[in-house]
Amino acid sequence: MNKKINKSDFKTDWSYSPAPESTDHIKIVKKNDLFINGKFMPPEKGKYFKTINPANEQKLADVAEADKSDVDKAVKAARKAYDKVWSKMDPSERGKYIYRIARLIQERAREFSVIETMDGGKPIRESRDIDIPLVSAHFFYYAGWADKLSYAFPGKQAKPIGVAGQIIPWNFPLLMAAWKLAPALATGNTVVLKPAETTPLTAMKLAEIIQEADLPPGVVNIINGDGKTGRAIVEHEDINKIAFTGSTDVGKMIMKSVAGTGKKYTLELGGKAANIIFEDAAIDQAVEGIIDGIFFNQGHVCCAGSRLFVQESVADTVISKLKDRMESLIVGDPLDKNTDIGAINSKMQLEKIKMYVDIGQKEGGSVHQSSCGLPEKGYWHAPTLFTDVSQSHRIVQEEIFGPVLAIQTFRTVDEVIAKANNTPFGLSGGVWTDKGSKIFQVSKSIRAGVLWANTFNKFDPTSPFGGYKESGMGREGGLEGLMPYVNLV
Ligand code: NAP
Ligand code: MG
Repeated sequence: MNKKINKSDFKTDWSYSPAPESTDHIKIVKKNDLFINGKFMPPEKGKYFKTINPANEQKLADVAEADKSDVDKAVKAARKAYDKVWSKMDPSERGKYIYRIARLIQERAREFSVIETMDGGKPIRESRDIDIPLVSAHFFYYAGWADKLSYAFPGKQAKPIGVAGQIIPWNFPLLMAAWKLAPALATGNTVVLKPAETTPLTAMKLAEIIQEADLPPGVVNIINGDGKTGRAIVEHEDINKIAFTGSTDVGKMIMKSVAGTGKKYTLELGGKAANIIFEDAAIDQAVEGIIDGIFFNQGHVCCAGSRLFVQESVADTVISKLKDRMESLIVGDPLDKNTDIGAINSKMQLEKIKMYVDIGQKEGGSVHQSSCGLPEKGYWHAPTLFTDVSQSHRIVQEEIFGPVLAIQTFRTVDEVIAKANNTPFGLSGGVWTDKGSKIFQVSKSIRAGVLWANTFNKFDPTSPFGGYKESGMGREGGLEGLMPYVNLV
């Protein structure tokens, strides 16, 4: 009762207790076939590859590898569904199917989030609160457009274009699938979709939902494989449109390959966004924005704020606060609800990030990393920042696609605009200031598709997204996202 309380009775360790999301409510199919013409079927050559969990390197499942003949089968199914059913269907009926897909995803959101996190390494907090809700929001949004195309394009008739070949990357696997599928389906096109090699599992779950939603067979076909499968889709002569999200190098190859074929294309490629902090910004808020800009999804974000520009007068304060905040980031088990930074998506990507950190140091940059420990198994990288870098450094010019920030300072508005535009990319950017006039001045002078003011990495299905220069062409999202999928007559 009257037990004497000693100082040692108080816990001095203020770290969070583990809060892992359970995995017993999900079912991962161990052998994933191709989804063609509404059915799961084995690949012609019988080849399968494995997908692993990058947080522990354990195999999750085998996945069918589609070769040219499988691609052909999928395109034929899509063509038949286009000619006979989908393009002829009343648009309001098409809309109902898309609404159904959206609702089914919402119902199974938890399952999708856990599988997304296991297959790709991103924190469950992000897949649960950002990726999957945005996926269903995209389907809801474009379902709404299906029977309203005459309002989207007044005075014109919006006709579908045919079969779309869609190729997506591994950083937001299901979200990229939604960005591609929803507008294509709403406008009456049919689809052959190829997910990325390291993250095929949520797309295969989506195939289950497509079956459950009773979508007519062949409207959506999902086939997996590596770059060769992607190339076979791009080169298939009965495809009318290519929608690609991925690296600038592959984007350039696709452009060459479709040149002169009459195929339409949209390319969402890489980025090296400038995140600009003025001295009159709310500094603590801006520090959160810097963290979110570069460390969200381990920095595997095409629009990541990977080039930070801080006005000289506040640079010391911002960098010191930034280092403090980096120290508090929790790196580790992606399934733990406390985790801020999960696993790097693949061994290859980890090697690429390490190579750039090496290059940054060799070129004279000063590196700082958070002192967090990293798990033994799996692919991990500590949050990292570089100072003492300049415009010509490779880590300032090239996309790293990892948790690595390059920091420079500036004195005037004109100087930072010139520096921000000194990049081959033009996807996104951020500006932090108290002055609305400065926001307008900077945002209209920076050549990038998306500019955030006093926030970063915010996405919404109603808002178009896409790049200038080597960041690609065409827009996804919003009314603009319908355009690549229609012929206006
Ligand atoms: P990637 O190598 O270009 O791969 C993207 C997709 O293309 C994957 O499905 C890939 O298959 C496939 N592919 C590879 N070679 C191909 C070829 N010759 N022909 C057709 N398809 C091919 O890019 P990544 O490394 O996976 O993704 C990271 C890149 O995507 C970054 O540069 C990032 O900036 C960009 N990205 C851009 C956006 C945007 O909206 N702008 C969004 C997300 C990511 P495999 O998986 O088998 O390689
Ligand atoms: Mg995987």
